[in-house]
Amino acid sequence: MKGKINVKTENIFPVIKKFLYSDHEIFLREIVSNAVDATQKLKTLSSLGEAKGELGDLTIDVKIDKDKKTLHVIDRGIGMTEDEVEKYITQIAFSGAEEFLEKFKGKSEADVNQLIGHFGLGFFSSFMVSDQVEIFTRSFKDAPAVHWSCDGDTEYSIEQCDKQERGTEIVMHITDECKDFLEEYKILELLRKYCKFMPVPIRFGKEKSWEDSPTEKDKDGNPKRVEVEHDRIINNTEPLWKKSPSELKDEDYNKFFRELYPMNFDEPLFHIHLNVDYPFNLTGILYFPKVKKNIDPTQDKIQLYCNQVFVTDSVEGVVPQYMMLLRGVLDSPDIPLNVSRSYLQSDGNVKKISSHIAKKVAEKLEEISKNQHEEFLNKWDDLKIFIEYGMLSDEKFYDRMKNIYVFKNTDKEFFTLDDYKKKISTLQTDKDGNVIFLYAQNVDEQYAYIQAAKDKGYDVLLLDGILDTHFVNMLEQKNEKCRFTRIDADVISKLIQKDEKIPSKLSEDEVKKIQEMMENLVDKKTFTVQTESLEETAQPVTITQNEFMRRMKDMSELGGGGMYGLYGDMPDSYNLVINTNHPVIYNILQNADSEQQTEKLSQLKDLALLSQGLLKGEALDTFIKRSTKLVE
Ligand code: ADP
Repeated sequence: MKGKINVKTENIFPVIKKFLYSDHEIFLREIVSNAVDATQKLKTLSSLGEAKGELGDLTIDVKIDKDKKTLHVIDRGIGMTEDEVEKYITQIAFSGAEEFLEKFKGKSEADVNQLIGHFGLGFFSSFMVSDQVEIFTRSFKDAPAVHWSCDGDTEYSIEQCDKQERGTEIVMHITDECKDFLEEYKILELLRKYCKFMPVPIRFGKEKSWEDSPTEKDKDGNPKRVEVEHDRIINNTEPLWKKSPSELKDEDYNKFFRELYPMNFDEPLFHIHLNVDYPFNLTGILYFPKVKKNIDPTQDKIQLYCNQVFVTDSVEGVVPQYMMLLRGVLDSPDIPLNVSRSYLQSDGNVKKISSHIAKKVAEKLEEISKNQHEEFLNKWDDLKIFIEYGMLSDEKFYDRMKNIYVFKNTDKEFFTLDDYKKKISTLQTDKDGNVIFLYAQNVDEQYAYIQAAKDKGYDVLLLDGILDTHFVNMLEQKNEKCRFTRIDADVISKLIQKDEKIPSKLSEDEVKKIQEMMENLVDKKTFTVQTESLEETAQPVTITQNEFMRRMKDMSELGGGGMYGLYGDMPDSYNLVINTNHPVIYNILQNADSEQQTEKLSQLKDLALLSQGLLKGEALDTFIKRSTKLVE
């Protein structure tokens, strides 16, 4: 029999081909998942006693016939009767397409992409790569087998055929443009991407491996290694996330991590096994990976599944941005399968899922911090960036984390914000009542400054993470009277501003003189020379860098965007502070030989630059030569 599909538009296929999916390759997932559904349905009917007889081998076969240029997907599921083919394939599928076209009229491409997600044109996606598609099917019910064929136009044919086995075979005649889909490597790649965890075994040809022979022995009497050919089953039908957490050990989770990301050799830090059934269904496993300095969020991404069918690994919108640092799988029947990015983001279920995941992750962190505190601290360096990112971007996450977030000081001790505040408040409160959190970003480079602070009894935090500058900005906003100051932001006695004033030992004229002498020795664009009457024991010359300016520069380098961008282009600027009470300075002023004056002052200046890591190139060479001469 021949039929004509009742659609108003003459040829819907070009439109479908162009717009339906940005990725043509998705057709294979659609056809194989239909085969999986048909098989699952048969199993259900059989368990209810509605399908009689042996089920037999239910493995789904995917085959390529290079000569005929066809790709075959064969299942042993429920199959279809002639009426069912008419109803489910011809009418429903085509009317879906028709509805799609109706809505598509007069819309922009962006709107069309938005629309696409609403249509389950699964079977039809095979026309994106085929110029003809055939169905051979035999229902589990006692009915004749049927052959349906359509060449990508609105006409199709349907007739009885002599298929013997129960189930459905889809034959796709691949177009010349898509001939890649007749290559074994290509199909294997797609099956591994989309079908890796589908719940029915999928076979794709044969593969060989080396195994111990059960009979043959080698000359030492050990079983001989022989090459054995087996069916190549491409999927794991019972992925770990479907199992009950109580049956699983850490080892199982680590093994599964390697199954998901074969190229990642790090062990994950923690995992979270998700199992939600209200108000939506969601299972999955999330891993906290070791976060490297150079995080690459494009690698090893979270994979999204719908009933074990791979949907996407672009989870933007499904999980909060900061969760993108996590790895693992999420599986929910409530996530629409045919998705475009924008559709996912606007979907109500997806939004709920996103905030639920954030909550679960926060709970897990709270639990670890409470019950395995030692381990939590041991892994802190790897967790920190994730937690900071989350606290910076999600108010609720901030609230949950604020009491478990820890600071590490330069003696490698950990404190929560409140504990730390108590610890330092006696010595490190300034005249206005602000508690000053002193920090270093690099213990080696800022060693002299850290030491000076410790000598005064201060405590110094280590804030060396890439988000730390943003993070302390936020903490200052959220916690009244908390100020963060890098250890070299000012001379030691002024880092924490107290009321006491030390009188200067030099006269005003002398102060002016030493300042001018120094100004002649430095590049004024980079250094501002200042004089301070500090304690005699403080360094004679110190380099400092204004906290605000430095932070702005740090943030613009991180790509803070907006106003921070302005600061990125500014040259570094430093203060060079002379301690007018230091005996060395006094001595220089008393020296009658102006050449010696310059030499000594230069030496002091270079020592200060050296301790800030700023002495380089020619300046460093000059310093070394001058120092050698001084030793002579
Ligand atoms: P969906 O899978 O979203 O329902 P499809 O266009 O992919 O949409 O398929 C339409 C219908 O055709 C299915 O619901 C099913 O009833 C039937 N069908 C498709 N493939 C098979 C198959 N391999 N075996 C049995 N029925 C099938």
